[in-house]
Amino acid sequence: MPSTIVAPDRPLAKYLSVWSVASAVACAAIVATSPARAQDAAAEAPAAPAASASTSASSEAPAGGSGGGAATAEQPKKIHEVIAAADPLVQEFNEHLTVLASPWMEGRLPGTRGMERAMQYMEDQFARTGLEPGFQPSDGGPKTYRQPFPLGSSREVKLESIALKCGDQEAALTAGTDFKFSSLGRDGNASGEIAFVGYGIEDGPDGYTSFAEGHSLEGKIALVLRFEPMDANGKSRWSGGDGWSGRAGFQGKLSAVARRKPAAILVVNTPGADDPRISSLGTGGGGRAIADVPVFMVSTEAGERLVNACGDGRSLMDLRRIADEPPADAPRSFDLAGSRVNLSVEVEERSVIAENIIGVLPGRGALAKEVIVIGGHLDHLGMGDFGSREGPGKLHPGADDNASGSAGVILLGDLLRKDYERLDPATPLRTIVFIGFSAEESGLNGSRYYAQNPIYPIRDTVLMMNFDMIGRILNNRLSVTAAGGKGIEEWAQTFYPSSGLTVVPRGGGGGGSDHASFLAVGVPILFAIIADFHDDYHTSRDVTGLIDREASVLAVRLWHQLALDMAQRAERFEAESTGGPMRPQPMRVRVGLRTRAADDGSGLEVVDVTAGGSADKAGIKQGDKIVKWNKKDMPDRNAFVEDLRTHEGGAVVQAVVMRGEEELTIYVTLDGSN
Ligand SMILES: [Zn+2]
Repeated sequence: MPSTIVAPDRPLAKYLSVWSVASAVACAAIVATSPARAQDAAAEAPAAPAASASTSASSEAPAGGSGGGAATAEQPKKIHEVIAAADPLVQEFNEHLTVLASPWMEGRLPGTRGMERAMQYMEDQFARTGLEPGFQPSDGGPKTYRQPFPLGSSREVKLESIALKCGDQEAALTAGTDFKFSSLGRDGNASGEIAFVGYGIEDGPDGYTSFAEGHSLEGKIALVLRFEPMDANGKSRWSGGDGWSGRAGFQGKLSAVARRKPAAILVVNTPGADDPRISSLGTGGGGRAIADVPVFMVSTEAGERLVNACGDGRSLMDLRRIADEPPADAPRSFDLAGSRVNLSVEVEERSVIAENIIGVLPGRGALAKEVIVIGGHLDHLGMGDFGSREGPGKLHPGADDNASGSAGVILLGDLLRKDYERLDPATPLRTIVFIGFSAEESGLNGSRYYAQNPIYPIRDTVLMMNFDMIGRILNNRLSVTAAGGKGIEEWAQTFYPSSGLTVVPRGGGGGGSDHASFLAVGVPILFAIIADFHDDYHTSRDVTGLIDREASVLAVRLWHQLALDMAQRAERFEAESTGGPMRPQPMRVRVGLRTRAADDGSGLEVVDVTAGGSADKAGIKQGDKIVKWNKKDMPDRNAFVEDLRTHEGGAVVQAVVMRGEEELTIYVTLDGSN
């Protein structure tokens, strides 16, 4: 196989500029930032091939004492010489990896330019290797490699304004600095008198309520304070510690106010609150509309101006004090008499369409109707926009997660297409569908969509093979889960000894990646992932320079052998159970949480946290609501317990947690149960 780096006839030529930028980045990462780690990884690997790109690359580092025996006397090789001398499959893997994890791909967040480039790259590679486009558009047009699916919507504010007229004072607030439309409400126009409703809390402790009896909000502009009653230091009177109680959240207060039918709601950042968020007009979190009327966040300063202009002489702080300790002899909510506010907001809703990239290698003969799916997710976290362990703002290249698996899928398409060409035309072969899934990181969206809208019937899909993080393999240890079919583990195990890897079999369903979507519809699965977790997971440090290319290619070769055998094997695996839970596994981890399902099925409320347990150490607190665990929705405790059974001590699980109004992504390292 010619090297893809030098061959001029490859479609890849158009990525040449990417390649040079990306290689420079990769080399810089190896040499400048982490020679020791790259070297360690390679040095510890048993039987590392002499032309190991990572070993030799690290020997370029100034302190590079090579462990390569004969190589010690030689001049260290240049990086391009190392690459050129490597196994062609390693070269090709390196190229795909480096391109996909390059800054050009901008972290491959669905709906962005970078993800578009990554998808183009993958479909070009599928086309180059001779895979057929897999998706038939409903308009009858030609087949394409792209299977579109809806991924929620984004809202763009086209216009927003707030103007007030109180007595002889007229003023307009400035969008962006004084106020901002919140997606917790709807678009529209409204005009009316201002009604102050304290914190908008209906049922506080000891009979606390923000609403005066008989005070109507109908058709008015409700002015609500953010958070909840606070003391002189701006700290909650109710939470009994740092932070706010559950009553401070938007959900409760906005529903309570909206039920009283105001024309619009202004949420003012409460003066003096001990919370950095009062200097922001953001509301964090998912942003599903709670109220059916326009909702605006208003700055403390603009709120003060509004109250000064339209009130009876009391300041915003005076109003806050009324809300903190409602007087027994005066109303706790009231109109700012004679005030008038006009506001309007126009929002354009744009649905986000994500796409899975699908290439098909047609089978033949009696087995052609049956299908093997080989996939991995192409998407990642962009600039850390969500799911990042560092927060937003830095490029998250996702070299291990999952440029490595995507590169593997591309190689497998090429290898197996050549096998099919070479094999006797009389040999019956199953059809193989190669997929680069989108929107895995936000909750297995692409694979779930495919499992529900497959291009071939799911009942004919005999195996799904998933690659998710095959790059940062340490000491040649790869974790493989084989599940969902009778005898699948025994079959898969026969391939492990000759793989050159130390395969660590893992029980259960293998946790939260795209294979879970297939397991859920009764398809047997194989799932490969690095056996040893690293701290760079879901950070900007998941870079190309730390990938052990040789070991990744061993994983590709193992998958190749398994797929080729499965393609020809007479029998398919009998499904282990039909859609039901997996064979019960013993519980091997302790999370240190007591939870109960939220009434509306939206998640698990944390009732109790064991001090010093896994959840406690990760920062989960009593009163939090776990809305996603291991990328899965958590409608009830069974879903939680079932997922826990799939883990072993040391596993790191991503949890999405609502704390009051805030959505947090928390990583929990699970303690083993003994
Ligand atoms: Zn991943």
